Amino acid sequence: MASRSWLTLEGGNTTRLSEGSFQNCLSLSPCPCPPEGHPTVTGRTAHPGLTEVPFLGGFLRVEIERSALPLERVLERNGTLAILLPVSVPAIQVSGHVRQVAERWLKAQARTYLQRRVGELAARLGVTPRQLTVKDTRSRWGSCSHAGNLSFSWRIVMAPPWIIDYLVVHELAHLREMNHSHRFWEVVHGACPDYKSHRFWLRACGEKLMNW
Ligand SMILES: [Zn+2]
Repeated sequence: MASRSWLTLEGGNTTRLSEGSFQNCLSLSPCPCPPEGHPTVTGRTAHPGLTEVPFLGGFLRVEIERSALPLERVLERNGTLAILLPVSVPAIQVSGHVRQVAERWLKAQARTYLQRRVGELAARLGVTPRQLTVKDTRSRWGSCSHAGNLSFSWRIVMAPPWIIDYLVVHELAHLREMNHSHRFWEVVHGACPDYKSHRFWLRACGEKLMNW
């Protein structure tokens, strides 16, 4: 895991938004930017040469190796993501291929990570979700159905662990309170005392991850 992180709030200021800014729920609507806009949100880019992959709040440096093996392989080691590409992949296609491989790897990591944390945090909250689905969504981070099924955007695996925990706790708390009442937020607070700052982080920085 690389130590550098750009997934931090501008100036570390977590108090510039009023409490009213937290009224809308991430699970019900796309994450809105702060009213004054967010200067670091630049929109989706083509990533012509992927050199870093955001993962769990840090960065993995991408190293590309060509291999005589017919299948690609991905290895995470010492803060790097080594992508072994078959020599049969033409040089002109390497950039696009690396991007696809990195994205598949992140999705697989998201499934594993979320399954583990949903299980651990569900036990802490005393709830039992029925099914967990990891989706390729950009409009919402997570949701909880009346049937007790949870779904998450795989992109959350790029956020720091405590942000992921907040999101998981939020959706699990809906198994206790299927609303955003005061009681719901008390449940969230019980398992995630710093949830307000985590919500702020998602609103301020989440769009960068959604647009990755
Ligand atoms: Zn909610």
